[in-house]
Amino acid sequence: MESIKYVYLFKEGNATMRNLLGGKGANLAEMTNLGIPVPQGFTVSTEACVKYYKDGKAISDNIKEQIYEALSELEKITGKEFGSVENPLLVSVRSGARVSMPGMMDTILNLGLNDQAVVALGKLTDNERFAYDSYRRFIQMFSDVVMGIDKRKFEDVLDEVKGEIGAKFDTDLTAGDLKEVVRKYKIIYKKEMGEDFPQEPKVQLIEAIDAVFRSWDNPRAIVYRRLNDIPGDWGTAVNIQSMVFGNMGQTSGTGVAFTRNPATGDKEMFGEYLINAQGEDVVAGIRTPQSILRLKEDLPECYEEFLAIADRLEKHYRDMQDMEFTIEQGKLYFLQTRSGKRTAQAALKIAVDLVSEGLVDKKEAMLKVDPKQLDTLLHPTFDKEELKNAKVIAKGLPASPGAACGKVYFNAEDAKTHSELGEKVVLVRAETSPEDIEGMVVAEGILTVRGGMTSHAAVVARGMGRCCVAGCGDIKVNEKAKNFEANGEIYNEGDYISLDGSTGFVYGLAIKTVEPEISGHFGTFMSWADEIRKLKVRTNADTPRDAAQAVKFGAEGIGLCRTEHMFFDEERIFAVREMIVAENEDQRRGALEKLLPMQREDFVNIYEAMEGRAVTIRLLDPPLHEFLPTEDEDIEELAKDLGISFQNLRFKIESLKEFNPMMGHRGCRLSISYPEIAEMQGRAIIEAAIEVNKRKGYNIVPEIMIPLVGEVKELGFVKNVVVSVAEEVIRNSNAELDYKVGTMIEVPRAALTADEIAKEAEFFSFGTNDLTQMTFGFSRDDAGKFLNNYYDKKIYEFDPFQKLDQDGVGKLVEMAVKLGKSTKDDLKIGICGEHGGDPSSVEFSHAIGLDYVSCSPYRVPVARLAAAQAQVKNPRQ
Ligand code: PEP
Ligand code: MG
Repeated sequence: MESIKYVYLFKEGNATMRNLLGGKGANLAEMTNLGIPVPQGFTVSTEACVKYYKDGKAISDNIKEQIYEALSELEKITGKEFGSVENPLLVSVRSGARVSMPGMMDTILNLGLNDQAVVALGKLTDNERFAYDSYRRFIQMFSDVVMGIDKRKFEDVLDEVKGEIGAKFDTDLTAGDLKEVVRKYKIIYKKEMGEDFPQEPKVQLIEAIDAVFRSWDNPRAIVYRRLNDIPGDWGTAVNIQSMVFGNMGQTSGTGVAFTRNPATGDKEMFGEYLINAQGEDVVAGIRTPQSILRLKEDLPECYEEFLAIADRLEKHYRDMQDMEFTIEQGKLYFLQTRSGKRTAQAALKIAVDLVSEGLVDKKEAMLKVDPKQLDTLLHPTFDKEELKNAKVIAKGLPASPGAACGKVYFNAEDAKTHSELGEKVVLVRAETSPEDIEGMVVAEGILTVRGGMTSHAAVVARGMGRCCVAGCGDIKVNEKAKNFEANGEIYNEGDYISLDGSTGFVYGLAIKTVEPEISGHFGTFMSWADEIRKLKVRTNADTPRDAAQAVKFGAEGIGLCRTEHMFFDEERIFAVREMIVAENEDQRRGALEKLLPMQREDFVNIYEAMEGRAVTIRLLDPPLHEFLPTEDEDIEELAKDLGISFQNLRFKIESLKEFNPMMGHRGCRLSISYPEIAEMQGRAIIEAAIEVNKRKGYNIVPEIMIPLVGEVKELGFVKNVVVSVAEEVIRNSNAELDYKVGTMIEVPRAALTADEIAKEAEFFSFGTNDLTQMTFGFSRDDAGKFLNNYYDKKIYEFDPFQKLDQDGVGKLVEMAVKLGKSTKDDLKIGICGEHGGDPSSVEFSHAIGLDYVSCSPYRVPVARLAAAQAQVKNPRQ
């Protein structure tokens, strides 16, 4: 007999039980304990969901029993009874994971209604119209969400009945009309399912809970989880809550509100509500709601009470709250509270304000901003000059800020296809639904005709930091014809438009964008992050422009300068090719001689852009054939320029081809075959440092990094070459210069023998791109083609090339750190693979004691914050 408790009444839980009860369940319990008016109910735990999947998608008898027990308790609390013909209990059934996943999973309202209960509800409320309206909503939702019947079938019937009586809005339908709708709905159900609509409320309830559990694994939830680093094995809880009705007439209503403005962060109550409506109408964006301020006029007492509770909740949770409420015939209820999703600007302002209001300290404030969100602030805004002349063709609600410019597409699939072809796309929809998530991910911006500031499109776009203009009634979208009309003009699929998510303006053309800056609240907040963090943040930069951008974003040095990118330049590619096809060392040295001044100039410029900060320069890494032409025509031209025969050159190129170039003649292996390459690069690095130090008075200590080492003798050999030339240059210059020679750890053998490698290395830098590639045996260039199959089959949940695989690759990294430090306890260690800018990987790097992470310039602020958060969560000396 199992003794695990899977079902909790609201009064049995509290806010600390989020992992078990989900965010929504834990907060409903907390509000219950605080004495806030919450319609009572119970939560089926996330553990029940995990068990459901373990049991082959079945709710065990034990869990069902616990549900029925809680149900009878709820009947006692509410004085209502499930299926009663006199005073029926109706409930909502809603998902609630540990972290909120807005709109990704399923909700069912009005559950418990059947042919008898609807009559009772009509009598009890003296409102037959309301009762049948609730019943028809329930049948539709249950059929769609639980049974998977296409909801359009129901919408068509509703439109048909409306058409017959000439009704414009749903609210024009009478009780009699709605009875007819219900009759027709039940016929659809029977036709689709081969049986009558279930009349037994307990059957309805178990089916609904089953559907919510199932929805944890629907494709859009899986995509959302991957985007937000939410593990698949958490499961969702299910909340069963007695219904209160916002659609019981003019003293009833329902709404969503935030304690601060989620777009700007301003301290003002911000929200929307609809009189005489149910929650789904607001959230789904079906009707465009009114400002919460109207509630003050409509129902002033409710408004005052609402403000007082909202304020209390914000102080209690020490964060901006996003609340759902319903007023049933003048009585206010809170249905939910949670930390509100907000734009990056708002997140920063709120975090800074909460500190100055004394609600949180700087450390806690760090946790109020999602590092990935900062990304949205680091992207361009519109060029002011171009904007001056741009004509606004429509205006909608400024739902999520930022500037977006792209070609319009009218469904998620088209948006995705064209984005994969490299186009910048803007998704235009009448309204979005959760199925649009993939289109929203790839879009530069989203434009919707319907829906308010809390509609699905707005909430999801803000969460992703994607620019969004919602509720733009100025445009007429024809999704079938794939065009929209605005200002008397037609915009077809593929036409350019631009969106300003901060003003709600839509422009009918492409507008140039400009680079951002870190200032104001952003600057203040980031300076606190820098005070707190222990992990340093460097950048991967190969050009002075990138380096300067990264410095603006707070980079403390360069962790990886890939020199090969410098060789593709038109002016030098010829010399590079000459070097590659050289027949002997003399010829090769001749070509390298030509490259030396250019390479020296590269480093001078990079050092200057970094203004004396640390710079790690990596020796040439890729396989040489990457620099050579492949087409006969180009080979012929090159042969002419080189003064050799076409046949000869083609033979040479053929001979450089490899079956598996990423595991071929690259990295330090090149310098072992051709030490003169390392010699030229080493000379350029040292000469440039001496020159810049002299000219600018800096004390640059160049860090020369040798790639793809797997054996200490490889490192020893190349290091000797570099050190000899460095010493010679320094001697001849009469200058003093410190420099370091270190290695990348990116071949598993290097990690395994890191104690040996450390004897020759003055620093390590983990190249987790190659280390991941070689540890998994996945080609980093091709894995994208099949990783989707792995996600579908639940073998992996995330891309190991983006988020460090801590169980496997991470173990190697950790081992190499320990081994390396056992040889040299002051060994400097960093990471410079793509993972250096991924927050969870930054947290890992902090935890294992690395000195720095290095990432692309645009991710530097993300890494700075992630490092501060890591220190707050897991303090290190
Ligand atoms: C790496 O392998 O992680 C790395 C930083 O080097 P590259 O991406 O240039 O191979
Ligand atoms: Mg590499």
